[in-house]
Amino acid sequence: MNRNTAAALLCALLPALMCSCTESGRISADTPFTADFFAMDTFMSVKAYGKGANDALARTEERIKQLEDELSVTREDSDISRINRGGEVKVQQETAGIIRQALGYCEMTGGALDITLYPVLREWGFTTGEYRIPEQSEIDELLGKVGYSQVDAAGDTVSIPEGVMIDLGAVAKGYASDCAADIMRGNGVTSALINLGGNVQTVGTKPDGKPWKVAVRDPYAPDRDMCVVEVSDKAVITSGSYERFFTGEDGNDYWHILDPEDGYPADNGIVSATIIGSSGMMCDAFSTAMFAAGTERAVSFWKDTDTDIDMILVTDEHKILYTEGISGSFTNISDMKAEVISRD
Ligand code: ADP
Ligand code: MG
Repeated sequence: MNRNTAAALLCALLPALMCSCTESGRISADTPFTADFFAMDTFMSVKAYGKGANDALARTEERIKQLEDELSVTREDSDISRINRGGEVKVQQETAGIIRQALGYCEMTGGALDITLYPVLREWGFTTGEYRIPEQSEIDELLGKVGYSQVDAAGDTVSIPEGVMIDLGAVAKGYASDCAADIMRGNGVTSALINLGGNVQTVGTKPDGKPWKVAVRDPYAPDRDMCVVEVSDKAVITSGSYERFFTGEDGNDYWHILDPEDGYPADNGIVSATIIGSSGMMCDAFSTAMFAAGTERAVSFWKDTDTDIDMILVTDEHKILYTEGISGSFTNISDMKAEVISRD
């Protein structure tokens, strides 16, 4: 969604946002407070119920905007931009901590997630919107600068070799939704739905005690839902080729998740990867990584890794693969065949 569409949507929603009370002026437990805003290049919508909700929403918006200031790769004064200008850079403890955590996910995914892909991503125009298909020679040269193991993040100091650059675009929204969920819980909110541009994090259950129903889009028809998962206290985060792409002069589509192996949009059998788990940042990291890694590596990753995550993968053969942990809470509402992946 671009800024203009988001702004138009925000104006349309404004009257609804202003009335979060019941007619009598008293707040009922099942009346949501809502906050809708644009941040991190996407439209965000947060809904929370009960006492403490209104204050939690204001603090959430402020916190997410502060994280954007800290982590944006396109803002000149962000910690990330300062790191990317080179040298040994002192940053906020939080930024260094996020980088260390992200490096852990790069390692776990065998480099399918690589936070140093930025020089290549920038050439494709995915962070600026000035899209182009780079020459093979440019990609090859820039790939020489890529490699997350070159990042040194100790204490509150981060350094990278000249020409290497970091981008946390694959994990920042997940981290932000974890922060939002923490603010909710810290404010005593037991029921909230945090939607950061399609990255969903749930706090508790719905006010009636039933699990949240989170819909996942059909990557082949992004204006339609493909399935619904019932969750509570979990994040549901999707990476898909339909989310941000451009059509090149050659008529082919090029999307925003690259395979660090060759610097091209990842085309390894997956058109959308959804990860469900308790940590938003981990789900965000793995959804991007599984998309990049492709079907086979994603399935073995899930079987071999000891985490609480579940996955819903849509393959380029129009098949849905979902892991056994969600078999009781997954409903397929598409025409595609859905198959369960089990550990044995
Ligand atoms: P979205 O931001 O659309 O929710 P993702 O969480 O999947 O999607 O993140 C995609 C972003 O991550 C890209 O816009 C880019 O900045 C960055 N990126 C793309 N490919 C990779 C990769 N293989 N590893 C790390 N970051 C990547
Ligand atoms: Mg991601």
